[in-house]
Amino acid sequence: MQIITEPGQMQAIAEKLRLNRQLIGVVMTMGALHEGHLSLVKLARESAGTVILTIFVNPIQFGPTEDLHRYPRPFEQDVALAQSAGVDYLFAPAVSSIYPDHYHTTLQCGALAEQFEGVQRPGHFNGMATVVTKLFNITKPHRAIFGEKDAQQLAIIRQIVADLNLDITIVPAPIVREENGLAVSSRNVYLSSQERSTAGILYRGICYAEQRLAEQESDLHAVAAEVKEMIDSEPGCRTDYVGFVNEERFELAERAEQGKEYRLLIAAYCGSVRLIDNSRIRAQGQAK
Ligand code: AMP
Repeated sequence: MQIITEPGQMQAIAEKLRLNRQLIGVVMTMGALHEGHLSLVKLARESAGTVILTIFVNPIQFGPTEDLHRYPRPFEQDVALAQSAGVDYLFAPAVSSIYPDHYHTTLQCGALAEQFEGVQRPGHFNGMATVVTKLFNITKPHRAIFGEKDAQQLAIIRQIVADLNLDITIVPAPIVREENGLAVSSRNVYLSSQERSTAGILYRGICYAEQRLAEQESDLHAVAAEVKEMIDSEPGCRTDYVGFVNEERFELAERAEQGKEYRLLIAAYCGSVRLIDNSRIRAQGQAK
């Protein structure tokens, strides 16, 4: 595995790989690699000849009160994990080479970025979109693997690819969970062992919603309210939002149509740690 830090060098390597007809798969991360990230690398390995993993804690997607400075950065450990997962190139640039002095341009994602996560985290998705687009241009992938864990991010990236005519296939990867159902995340290190166990309530809420839709419930608004109530009743837990969106447009959905897919989105605090989770659920019921 080769470690690259300069965008120009990474671009030159990617260009050469393309000339040699190598299929490039990219996995973009902020490091502190875990099983979730490694599952994306595995998918990339299966669908591309060369795998590039990027590690970059993108300052412009963090709000002023967020955890930019304390975000975990165990670089040596990440290098070892990336290597054993079969990554070919690890691209880990410095902030100054991604945003040099006099840097100006940012992407504006529009309405999709202003709801759900965008409410609590204004500017977050524009920052994410900017760096993802830059990393697309630097790594020149044919395929890019993104986790369903960040469902709104995935929806926005698909929108960018469509809107900007990018010739890249976006491959979604299922959510990897801990034993109690908690979605694996680099930020789980902020949870105490007690919080880690109570955080399992998010997944129990998801399972409950899946069961309600399997029972042909079509009132998505009511199911979301029940899930919210479940989580808010757990000591130390407090929801930020719970809601269903339709899978195609990521718009709030209140009534389910039979056979259609919806995504239950959850954001909740466990102690002081804010967690997000979601699940894609197919409705079995008729709209009333
Ligand atoms: P991050 O380092 O948190 O920015 O995540 C990098 C990529 O890994 C994103 O595409 C995430 O959606 C994905 N990811 C993070 N956690 C998980 C997980 N538990 N399961 C699947 N994918 C994940």
